[in-house]
Amino acid sequence: MNALSDLTLEELQRRLAEWGFKPSHAARLLRSFYAGAGQIAWAELKVPGGLRERLESEYEAGRVPVAARQIAADGTTKLLLKLADGKAVEAVMMPDHREDRVAGCISSQVGCAMGCDFCATAQSGFERNLTAGEMVEQFLHLRGEARADGRRRQTVVFMGMGEPMLNLENVLEAIRRMAGNGLGGLGGRQITVSTVGIVPGIDALAAARLGVNLAISLHAPDDATRARLLPAGRRFGVEEIMAAADRFQAANNDRPMSIQYCLLQGVNDSPAQARQLAALLENRRMHVNLLHFNPTGASLSGRRYEASSPEAAKTFIAELRSRRVVTHFRRPRGRDIDAACGQLRQRVQIS
Ligand code: SF4
Repeated sequence: MNALSDLTLEELQRRLAEWGFKPSHAARLLRSFYAGAGQIAWAELKVPGGLRERLESEYEAGRVPVAARQIAADGTTKLLLKLADGKAVEAVMMPDHREDRVAGCISSQVGCAMGCDFCATAQSGFERNLTAGEMVEQFLHLRGEARADGRRRQTVVFMGMGEPMLNLENVLEAIRRMAGNGLGGLGGRQITVSTVGIVPGIDALAAARLGVNLAISLHAPDDATRARLLPAGRRFGVEEIMAAADRFQAANNDRPMSIQYCLLQGVNDSPAQARQLAALLENRRMHVNLLHFNPTGASLSGRRYEASSPEAAKTFIAELRSRRVVTHFRRPRGRDIDAACGQLRQRVQIS
């Protein structure tokens, strides 16, 4: 059975017309569905008799139920969502320090083919792409969690399981629904797509002109370190990625962009590497988000990565800031739960 989250407004309008109802009901229905975080307040909707029954016989309101939920002491909530084929993905809600705001992290694929050496998701390999509807349902679940927590201002980042640029068509369609007026209503500026640096994907995202933000998961300022950490680093060099990021930024009104950099002890956290990163970002309107690494045991290559020490992180930040690079160190989130992407899924068996 299909789900309402699978439908565009035009598709639902066509369906209603085929069933003999006015297509104009479609906008009201989808607005109610998105505003209700995946539920429809039927009692408040003025729709003709028979439409509800017809819809319910052909569509499920949602078909990606929550199979497990972890709530950390800091309010970070990780959901394990069960897909119709029995596979599972994670979505995470991270409350902001501003009390009405929340950031949601959603997955774009089941597993991931990129094989980044420090990533828990990489260890399960790639299973399949998510549909646009499955991504929309993650967004709606997170919206429901945020509302229950009294938070109404939501942002979304595609930084969960998977590389969004390798499932770009579905990601673009999911964004259109999450951002669309009368649907998710988020607006492109509230949405960020994060990539390890798939250059054709960056250009295609720019060409789609959806007004979303781009984040580059760089994790190393040089090709050699990057190639060891991320297979994508062997395919696209740092300069090539930064040139694509420049093109994206130029097509996106020069809006500032973020560089994600996970600090790993003895791998990418030396003062020299900080200086190299600062040199790379000179004359670029890009800020650095330093990420705290959540250890996940032995990596794909058998290495055991550790988070940088507080002293090394402090020095790294100081090197960047002294070169006028705007730098944020994201405080570790959800440390008392399976905080790394892919960890909850590894641990919980779905029946
Ligand atoms: S870090 Fe992202 S792109 Fe790399 S393996 Fe993990 S999920 Fe895939």
